[in-house]
Amino acid sequence: MSDFVEAVKKPVTLCAYCPKLCRFTCPVSEAERTETLTPTAKMTLLYLASEGQAALDDDDAARALEACTGCDACREYCAHDNPVSETLFFARAESGTPRSQAIAQSFADTGDSKGRDATAALATVPTTDKAALAYFPGCMRLFKEPARMGADLQVLSRAAGTEVKACALPAQKHCCGYALYAEGAYAAWEAHVTELAEALSGYDTIVTPDPGCAYVLSDVVKARGLDVKLPAVTTLVEYCADNTGPFAGVARDRAADGRRVVYHDACYLGRKRGVYEPPRALLETALGAPPAGFTQCKADAMCSGSGGLYPMSSPEHAKAAARRVLDHDGDLGDAVVVTSCPSARRGFERAGATALDITDVLGGEEGNDG
Ligand code: SF4
Ligand code: SF4
Repeated sequence: MSDFVEAVKKPVTLCAYCPKLCRFTCPVSEAERTETLTPTAKMTLLYLASEGQAALDDDDAARALEACTGCDACREYCAHDNPVSETLFFARAESGTPRSQAIAQSFADTGDSKGRDATAALATVPTTDKAALAYFPGCMRLFKEPARMGADLQVLSRAAGTEVKACALPAQKHCCGYALYAEGAYAAWEAHVTELAEALSGYDTIVTPDPGCAYVLSDVVKARGLDVKLPAVTTLVEYCADNTGPFAGVARDRAADGRRVVYHDACYLGRKRGVYEPPRALLETALGAPPAGFTQCKADAMCSGSGGLYPMSSPEHAKAAARRVLDHDGDLGDAVVVTSCPSARRGFERAGATALDITDVLGGEEGNDG
């Protein structure tokens, strides 16, 4: 039995013989309105491939493997706690989809999934090469919304009660390697994280605005038993929720202009890291009242369609997934959606909502180039 078949045999067999118990949960098959992209169907494709009855090296197979946000909504409803997203991610690299090959090559050449150079963005914020506490911005901030890094640092410094600076990182070591993880390129990801750990050796704790970075550098490192010495890693929202004092009432009159605030549980903070109450408590402190929520929330929260590199392969369907969340409870009116994930916030904005990052609510003031 090949290593690949051995690795996927149990999860794909469970799904292939399952009466689609998680069918309704998948943001992708719901957004694309197709049975061929349900968790069961995608895993059954792998089951057939493991039996030698289907090929994975064609465009249709690549499309199916890329049709997963990694949201774990299916896993939440699965009696077997079946790791569907990890299995699909693993299959991306194993079947050598063109995208997985391009990302692996780009990472090997530049340390970035798209060959981008982080030097200029990193130079816009104060950095330190040694500190008990430092800021790790992640690719989304660095390349899509660099002005928000200053706002994050303001908020983080306020929570810490002292000035906090960003990690001083070599341009090729600015990334947690999420794209390698999502493409199932685990050997390359482990090599990258091992080198990143060296670059982060001067810090005791790093704080990131992106729950995807925290998940990869903390939870995945632990789950895969990777033998590296990384700093403690947490998210900006978790750090601020542990230090709410400076935020009492800061958003009472300002952040949402008196509009109703609806909190959305991002998948990589909620289902992946199990963080549900701290953001709510933090928002209540800042707003002076508890935030509203979607009817499907916490472990049942609907996915914004923003993870797993899904917006890269299917931008319009990713937008439809975000729209589905916004429309699920009927008209949101002029409510503001607040989330603790930069990717989810951008997904909601692309779908036409007014969406705020937790940093916006807590009073980071250096602008927003979202
Ligand atoms: S993830 Fe679980 S519930 Fe969903 S198809 Fe597979 S075995 Fe069934
Ligand atoms: S992890 Fe999310 S996107 Fe992927 S198959 Fe499961 S429900 Fe669908």
